[in-house]
Amino acid sequence: MSPPPPLDAGAELRARVRELTASWRAAGRYVPRSDSWLRSFDLEFSKALAADGLIAMTYPKEYGGAGRSNVERLAVTEELLRAGAPVAAHWIGDRQIGPAILRHGSPALRAEILPRIAAAEAVFCLGMSEPEAGSDLAAVRTSATPVRGGWLISGHKIWTSHAHRATHAYVLARTARTERKHEGLTEFVLDMAADGVSTTPIPDLAGEHHFNEVRFEEVFVPAHRVIGTVGNGWRQVVEQLSFERGGAERVLSSYPVLAELVAHAAEERDDAELRSLLGSLVARLAVLRRLCREVAGRLDAGQAPVQEAAALKYLGNAFEVDVVEALRRTGLCHEPSPDGAFGQALLASPGFGLRGGAAEVLLSLVARQETRA
Ligand SMILES: Cc1cc2nc3c(=O)[nH]c(=O)nc-3n(C[C@H](O)[C@H](O)[C@H](O)COP(=O)(O)OP(=O)(O)OC[C@H]3O[C@@H](n4cnc5c(N)ncnc54)[C@H](O)[C@@H]3O)c2cc1C
Repeated sequence: MSPPPPLDAGAELRARVRELTASWRAAGRYVPRSDSWLRSFDLEFSKALAADGLIAMTYPKEYGGAGRSNVERLAVTEELLRAGAPVAAHWIGDRQIGPAILRHGSPALRAEILPRIAAAEAVFCLGMSEPEAGSDLAAVRTSATPVRGGWLISGHKIWTSHAHRATHAYVLARTARTERKHEGLTEFVLDMAADGVSTTPIPDLAGEHHFNEVRFEEVFVPAHRVIGTVGNGWRQVVEQLSFERGGAERVLSSYPVLAELVAHAAEERDDAELRSLLGSLVARLAVLRRLCREVAGRLDAGQAPVQEAAALKYLGNAFEVDVVEALRRTGLCHEPSPDGAFGQALLASPGFGLRGGAAEVLLSLVARQETRA
């Protein structure tokens, strides 16, 4: 592995995020929560970040970005997650759809979409999973048929987080029936306000509404809304998964719980068991942060660190769950409230190892790399 970028990369950016989140908290404009990158949606907060150049940081300036590195972006995302800030509105667009369009999109698509992500005007949802295509993503049945000037998309997506609030959807669809299911797939950007799009809520375990089913009935998509090459969707989406899986949100979803544990340990200085438990969690966190920097460095080098991101997500998700378990073991939370950091993390935790790729699937990816090495 190449040496990770320096630890202090982005100190000035960290200070800016801390100042912004502290002022919003002090004004009562948000309450920190666990799993905020998925569950805490506030377009005004995203617009405030955008105004400060803290969204689309890695995009070129000509597209409204800041032309910074993924390592610098990592400093910002870590601070936002530590603060439990309401970042869900821009997270998917900023993290993976913008970078996918930058790598593969036509000049027209870049010019149309990237400045809107950078301004927190375009809110993206992710139309990958289908009732019969979750882990087996290449089994998608949503179809795209060529018509004059574009495509007609028909199909059924599921577990689509924030589809009911999104302005745009990323959609993986089948453009050709082929013997090999990984061929004949294409990526599209679709308007959620277009005729033929409908969403139905699916309440989650906590009773919250972020999941949806989304149905497309002959939705027209103009030709320039294809990302990259028709039929090359599989190769492109695999690359996109490095952006989806390789970030700090795969480690810090339960960070507010860890902060509670640290505060408790400061009061219970004689509790050797608690201190040892906390020491082991903090040591794991340090390693995971290094891994995040390694993945960010590779993205900056133009690579697609698919296996490294899978390993990070697998280890990070286990850490996130263990943090929740650790607080449970202290006996601090006999009656977890669904509104407290612990209750939120506890109810969200079954999804940590599923969303963005199930743990077993990630392990197979890593194992395949090892057998090739
Ligand atoms: C909180 C959350 C948010 C999500 N948001 C989105 C979203 O916005 N957009 C979107 O498209 N999807 C989203 N998803 C869906 C998510 O990506 C899928 O749940 C995931 O890919 C797994 O697919 P599945 O649920 O169909 O499970 P399945 O594919 O049915 O897998 C179920 C279990 O079977 C086992 N398994 C499956 N395949 C293998 C294999 N090859 N080897 C070994 N074991 C295997 C694993 O134990 C796995 O956990 C979200 C999911 C969650 C939990």
